Amino acid sequence: MFDWEYAQTPEQTSWIASSWANNFTYDPDQGGFSDGNLLSIDQRGFAHLIKAEAAEFLHKEQLVLNVTVKAVKYSHDGVTVKLVNGTTLSADYAIMTFSLGVLQNDDVKFEPALPPWKIEAIESMTMATYAKIFLQFPKKFWFDTQYALYADRERGRYPVWQSLDIAGFFPDSGIVFVTVTGDYSQRIEALPDSQVQEEVLGVLRAMYPNITIPEPEAFYFPRWFSDPLYRGSYSNWPSSFVRDHHKNLRATLQRRLWFTGEAMSQKYFGFLHGAYFEGEATGHSVADCIAHGGCPGLPHVEQVRNAAPYVFN
Ligand SMILES: Cc1cc2nc3c(=O)[nH]c(=O)nc-3n(C[C@H](O)[C@H](O)[C@H](O)COP(=O)(O)OP(=O)(O)OC[C@H]3O[C@@H](n4cnc5c(N)ncnc54)[C@H](O)[C@@H]3O)c2cc1C
Repeated sequence: MFDWEYAQTPEQTSWIASSWANNFTYDPDQGGFSDGNLLSIDQRGFAHLIKAEAAEFLHKEQLVLNVTVKAVKYSHDGVTVKLVNGTTLSADYAIMTFSLGVLQNDDVKFEPALPPWKIEAIESMTMATYAKIFLQFPKKFWFDTQYALYADRERGRYPVWQSLDIAGFFPDSGIVFVTVTGDYSQRIEALPDSQVQEEVLGVLRAMYPNITIPEPEAFYFPRWFSDPLYRGSYSNWPSSFVRDHHKNLRATLQRRLWFTGEAMSQKYFGFLHGAYFEGEATGHSVADCIAHGGCPGLPHVEQVRNAAPYVFN
């Protein structure tokens, strides 16, 4: 279950950091929200929250969508962003929300190149992969609960199953999905759909040896690790990643280029609410910066020398 939540094994994970993310999220005594961990099937998707908030203040002409950033040039005076369609945008400040996985790749060029302390911080955290594989069958033949676990000799092999063909979700849909995380999910992302489907059906046959499993009518496997806009699902905090690494991950460059998103959240890294609160805090910081005609930005340390005690703001 650890691998399922953090998308990596306990050996690959800082236990203290994963405990913060868990307790600050699920334990009301630690300031967490609740111990409920619910699957939302709201068909409007996450984007609805952002769109509804944006509708309160943002005008269409202020927004550019569906075009990727190719290069980011930053200096003491401001930031210039080059888009793949040739457009150039310049501003006094820029807030970057690329995932840790995107920052770890060379999809976006930085000018000047990122300083060594920033690169060390980016490379020291892990972008983990959490993959859901959906199958639709003519009719349900599996468990009547929401969840089922499959135990295999090999770690990570199609372990957590969730039925959507159940009251409260999509009854009579014939849909079931399995979640695969960590190294195993990266392995299967490299395989064609047909091979992954065959492996998944093999596991279902092992789970239900007395049932003739039909071919699925539909198969859907989003590949987050291979997607150049994500390069993984969410960040995980390894034990070798210490406080000053995280400080450097969040630190502003030249007082102008700000980094935000889920990986920058000390309390809620990996979670959607980490992205939300971190983005909100960065937005306020930059607004203050503009209002006061400048600001030092978030600081960094040149060299990470020790694992100093953690403090929370
Ligand atoms: C399968 C899956 C299940 C998850 N389950 C949960 C869960 O149950 N609970 C939970 O709290 N969290 C969950 N998460 C994690 C959660 O979705 C993320 O933490 C959150 O979406 C991160 O938000 P973000 O804004 O930091 O980054 P992102 O959502 O990655 O946003 C970054 C944006 O930058 C864009 N971008 C990237 N590169 C470029 C470029 N070159 N040019 C322009 N734009 C670019 C991307 O398209 C994207 O829109 C899950 C994630 C996945 C993939």
